[in-house]
Amino acid sequence: MSIYNDEVFQMACDQFQVIADYLQIDQNDRDRLMLPKRSMAVTLPVHMDDGSTQTFQGYRVQHHLTLGPTKGGTRFAPNLSMGETAALAMWMSWKCALANLPYGGAKGGVACDPTKLSRTELESVSRRYMQEMIPFVGPHTDIMGPDMGTNEQVMAWFMDTYSVYQGYCVNEIVTGKPVSIGGTEGRREATGRGVVYLIERATDMLKLDPKKCTAIVQGFGNVGSVAALSLALNTGMKIVGISDATVALYNPNGIDVAKAEQHVIKKGHLRAFDEADRVDPNEMLTMPCDVLVPSAVDRVINKGNAAKLKCRILAEGANGPTTPEADLILNERWDELFVIPDILCNAGGVIVSYFEWVQGLQAFMWTETEVTDKLFRILEHSFAQVIKRAKAHKISHRTAAMAIGVERVMKAKHARGLFP
Ligand code: NAD
Repeated sequence: MSIYNDEVFQMACDQFQVIADYLQIDQNDRDRLMLPKRSMAVTLPVHMDDGSTQTFQGYRVQHHLTLGPTKGGTRFAPNLSMGETAALAMWMSWKCALANLPYGGAKGGVACDPTKLSRTELESVSRRYMQEMIPFVGPHTDIMGPDMGTNEQVMAWFMDTYSVYQGYCVNEIVTGKPVSIGGTEGRREATGRGVVYLIERATDMLKLDPKKCTAIVQGFGNVGSVAALSLALNTGMKIVGISDATVALYNPNGIDVAKAEQHVIKKGHLRAFDEADRVDPNEMLTMPCDVLVPSAVDRVINKGNAAKLKCRILAEGANGPTTPEADLILNERWDELFVIPDILCNAGGVIVSYFEWVQGLQAFMWTETEVTDKLFRILEHSFAQVIKRAKAHKISHRTAAMAIGVERVMKAKHARGLFP
């Protein structure tokens, strides 16, 4: 049994094998490209508020070290495993390569439910996790960022803990930190903004008027809430469905997303937001809309619902929302369903994280307009390449996007050779 034994890791491997077959990658190269280079598991004993000591399991996976340091988010989620972390790290590798960033993929996190921890406990878990990771990370080896269940504050605790151990301020050790300690203007919004930029490119291609379109957004955290707000405010799209871990809400007349956001800021979740009807969270995904944006957990589009999706555009804000079995069904529906695959769709976060890292290393800052302009330029280039390749080779957008990423990593590995 492998330490990565996990359904999500199996899914990432299955996706990779599809690409490896399409690119006719030699069997000798497949495991070298697919399997993580380094993986760490750590145990975190933490003092809880009630005087007890609880031990949490933490992970960090560095998928490949071929193109530069590794880069990836930190997830705090109850069922996080080494396998899921490895899958997320592998997707980061193809995502960074597609955007031409000088990084290998990484991912990490702690198996915990951050909503059940007090602020003091969350700080202790965060600091202990970073402290345990100090031998394995660094601004030139592995740079952490936020992901599900973590935020700017957690990044600030990571950065402070690392800096205290080094004896000087090392703000380039993490990205997605508050602007007051070297964070980048526009990083918090970057992933959601990128998602919306690409949705607009898709509506352009399909000749759809965004003002006449409706959208359903699953997940109302960093990615989902920014995407929903930006779709409503900047494109004029009507948001008819939103959800989080507590509730799914639907209103065919449109939901006031700014109000929903205020509700979440006050209460911490969408539950009890009463300006829409409660619906079954799974059924919400198959309700009629022009744009569906899964921005929460993995594998929500699967063989059970892929044929029933009624959207015109599937914009994958989350990592791994679509299973390979669902992909086979979506591929059959290519002329009625435009997929913006995750490694392209949510790349805005890592692209702006890259800007933040470069700015940190150079002790130099750019304005939010400069950051957003540069972000859109990179996304535009990646989008154009994916569409061109998909058309030329008659392949899905996902296959095209992943193939570009895998090819770049493979080319770099071949150029560097195998030591010794
Ligand atoms: P977050 O923790 O800020 O928000 C997650 C949201 O999803 C919350 O509203 C939560 O209640 C909701 N949620 C959790 N389980 C759910 C479920 N079963 N059904 C419906 N909603 C559920 O996380 P985030 O940073 O917005 O990340 C969301 C997804 O986007 C993840 O897959 C993450 O890996 C991916 N992603 C995030 C970033 C980033 O910059 N934050 C970048 C790229 C990709």
